[in-house]
Amino acid sequence: MNRNRKAKIVATVGPASSSAATLEAMFRAGADVFRLNFSHGTHEDHKARLAILRGLEKSLGRPIGVLLDLQGPKLRIGSFANGPVKLAPGAAFRLDLNSGQAGDVERVALPHPEIFAALEEGARLLLDDGRIELQVKRFGDNYADTVVVAGGMLSDRKGVNVPGVVVPMSALTEKDRRDLDFGLALGVDWIALSFVQRAEDIHEIKEIVQDRAGIIAKLEKPAAIAQLDAIVEAADAVMVARGDLGVEMPAEQVPAIQKRIVRACRRLGKPVIVATQMLESMVSAPVPTRAEASDVATAVYDGADAVMLSAESASGQFPVEAVKMMNSIIEHTESDTWYAESIKAAQHPTRAEIADAIGLALRNVADLLDVAATVAYTMSGHSALRVARERPRAPIIGMTPKLATARRLALAWGVHAVLVHDVESVSEMTDFACATAGREGLARPGQAIVIAAGMPFGAAGTTNLLRIARLDENGGGQ
Ligand code: PGA
Ligand code: MN
Repeated sequence: MNRNRKAKIVATVGPASSSAATLEAMFRAGADVFRLNFSHGTHEDHKARLAILRGLEKSLGRPIGVLLDLQGPKLRIGSFANGPVKLAPGAAFRLDLNSGQAGDVERVALPHPEIFAALEEGARLLLDDGRIELQVKRFGDNYADTVVVAGGMLSDRKGVNVPGVVVPMSALTEKDRRDLDFGLALGVDWIALSFVQRAEDIHEIKEIVQDRAGIIAKLEKPAAIAQLDAIVEAADAVMVARGDLGVEMPAEQVPAIQKRIVRACRRLGKPVIVATQMLESMVSAPVPTRAEASDVATAVYDGADAVMLSAESASGQFPVEAVKMMNSIIEHTESDTWYAESIKAAQHPTRAEIADAIGLALRNVADLLDVAATVAYTMSGHSALRVARERPRAPIIGMTPKLATARRLALAWGVHAVLVHDVESVSEMTDFACATAGREGLARPGQAIVIAAGMPFGAAGTTNLLRIARLDENGGGQ
């Protein structure tokens, strides 16, 4: 079940992929991290899915990452009295706070007072993933009178985006707080925060989560792009959430922003996931379009840590095939001779800090000696991420005595996480690293490996040691 690739696969779990058999097939096909999307499904659904994944991890002996995705302040209209209505271009349409009153062709509820407070005359409201566009003509504390710019059918509870307006809302709603408590009690590895607008949104959730899970900032609002570096700095990882991003800003701007976000994350060594519509046509077809295959490859050439499946694996007809296809596209892309050049071309200079210096030295030694594998002996995962940041050619074994760290590292570029027991000395750790590389089939007796670690062992964030070792015939080495 070893992956023959660096970029990871995040697969969203949903009705199409909730059975033990399908989840196992998806893991075997290459899914490294499973995403529980709390915009859909009940707590019971998610709990059952997590139980299957933890069981799978145990029976297969490989760490599996689980990501809880919080819905965030997704704005939605209310319902209609007699089914969907047809909005004609040029027609007047009112949004208001009267949630008790079902909508019709003239009005519908928008039960979010924050929006009316933040509106501006002329502001654009995008409904149903941007399919319908309204322009605000007049507004007050509890209503907005708009004119339909792009019309169409509008049905119950469709999403609303207000591009360009910073809505003074916390990225954590009441529902998110309940979901978060639930997820933390279950023990998920990553928590994704939707519609992040400011670095403070990340600080707020970190206050609650502490180090019980890593925090992923979903970048899907223009306001977040304006504060990109501060948000990347504050978060543990980032998602390029192209679905909502492509509604909030013109689709043609998304590719450049995607690349900018990936660069910003690679500069700081924070894992970055490229998400949404990657193999969209596989929702209902067994093969992707050429453009979709190319989209996945582009993210891989750019050095993204992970690519993600959404509806393809959650509700589509071919969840396992979609994972297989993604796996295959990544493998082919990474075996292209230009791949290494492409990764190197986008490499930023290393920061002048001890852990980063060790990561850089490890990569230089590993590439120069063309070693079979590298090892980061890591507590919090920090050492492994510093090594991953340098994008070495050889696989990175993230060797850790902490299960939570092994699971979290499932998201990181090139890291093959392995759970081991505590070590006491450098020589024991070295012997262990050689044995692990051998056992995982990543190095053979006689081959060299390079190891990064931190002394004293057991403390987080102490990366300060680089060791070159050679595997011996007895399944160890020094
Ligand atoms: P979502 O986030 O699937 O939760 O909306 C991803 C995106 O917007 O791209
Ligand atoms: Mn989104």
